[in-house]
Amino acid sequence: MEQPTASFEELAQELVFREHQIALLQVEASMLAAELSQNGFLEREGYNSPTDWLRFNCHLTDKVASDRINVGEHLAKMPLSVDCLRDGSIGYSHLAVMARTAEAVGKKFDERALLPLALEFTPGKFYYKSLHYRHSVDAKKYADEQSDDATNHHLTLSTAESGHLLINGVLDPVGGAAVRAALEPLARKSGEHDHRLLPQRYADALVELASGGKQANIQVTATIETLKGLAGAAAGEMEFSLPISSLAVQRMACECSVTRILLSQESLVMDIGRTTRIVSAPLKRALKARDCHCRWPGCERPASKCDGHHLLSWINGGPTDLDNLVLLCRRHHRMVHEGGWQLIKTEDGQIVTIAPTVTFGLPRGPD
Ligand SMILES: [Zn+2]
Ligand SMILES: [Zn+2]
Repeated sequence: MEQPTASFEELAQELVFREHQIALLQVEASMLAAELSQNGFLEREGYNSPTDWLRFNCHLTDKVASDRINVGEHLAKMPLSVDCLRDGSIGYSHLAVMARTAEAVGKKFDERALLPLALEFTPGKFYYKSLHYRHSVDAKKYADEQSDDATNHHLTLSTAESGHLLINGVLDPVGGAAVRAALEPLARKSGEHDHRLLPQRYADALVELASGGKQANIQVTATIETLKGLAGAAAGEMEFSLPISSLAVQRMACECSVTRILLSQESLVMDIGRTTRIVSAPLKRALKARDCHCRWPGCERPASKCDGHHLLSWINGGPTDLDNLVLLCRRHHRMVHEGGWQLIKTEDGQIVTIAPTVTFGLPRGPD
């Protein structure tokens, strides 16, 4: 006879049940943490703070450790919320937000103003709502906290060995909102075949934002071999960067949007950007008027954020005229030059994309 197996619904119910038990245990742990903290035991042990003791001995992150102590210390001010946790209608994370709010507003705290929100919203959204409550209780204190935040902002930029730029920082809430408002529209998925995850889209959006639709005014130095992508050629050089690949040089040379490309070989220096192949202003206007936006199927990045891409590269004899140029946004331009995608223009002027060839290992044949 076959053993009956649990259905997914049963497993899901089991998961909810287990999480509820964890929440109950977390409340008990919070009570112990608060008691040991209040009688000074956790600091007598030689730790800098009670949260430090919890971090080391209970293997918690700083935030979780301070939540434990906060919840334990404010438990008496939120009996109704604890009841709701016991019957499973809110979770421990709700209680943690409640306790942080109690800590922030002090004597004026009233759980009855918050509990309906906790019952209605997920913990993340509830935290957001709780900030409105804090503001409504004491607007001045809230503003002071935010301006404290403003002095804590910082941004560090460092270059990794690989040449990648590492960015790390904290922005105050208002500054952070400004950055998000600028990045979000640029970080939406664009066009067909966009399989980037959100963090990658943010990274691309930041670069797009920084270059303001134009290539930065940078100077690139490369030999003719590099520009042609010949085997054995050295890499190109660019300000603020480690040596760059010939594919990247080709992309930047494609519409000569960098200030200039100096070709130096055997003391021969040619100023490509200024002398040849530049897309003239009238031609660029005509191109923008014809294409309006990036021509990658499904992409609508406006012309102001696009490069003029040579379908047949000028280094290989492609002319700089309307027939041989299409608008491509920075990311799709990169996909063509560095990503190996091909663009084909059909007879009726449509652009078709061809994915780079991927060669998979062939299955091993019979011996
Ligand atoms: Zn190009
Ligand atoms: Zn595009």
